[in-house]
Amino acid sequence: MNRALLNKLWKLAGERCDYCRMPERFDPLPFQVDHIIARQHGGATILENLAWSCLHCNKRKGPNIAGIDPESGELAAFAASFRGH
Ligand SMILES: [Zn+2]
Repeated sequence: MNRALLNKLWKLAGERCDYCRMPERFDPLPFQVDHIIARQHGGATILENLAWSCLHCNKRKGPNIAGIDPESGELAAFAASFRGH
C-alpha cells in the first residue's frame, strides 16, 4: 500500500478506529488497514474500501463482508458509509 494513501486514510479516520472509534493513542497495539470488502472478495485498495482499524476490530471482522446486527438480528453489510462517502 502506498504511503500517501495510508496517510489519507489515517487523517480521514481522525486517528481513531473506524469501527469502534477508539483513539489510536489509547491502544498500545498498532492499528491496521482493513479492506472493508476483503481482497479475496475482489475489494480494491482504494480509500473508499479501506478502514483504519484497531487490532481487536480487525481480528473480529476478518474477511467477512457482512455481519449480524446485534440489535435487529438482521444481516448487515459492512459499508464505507460510516465516514459519509
Ligand atoms: Zn476498533
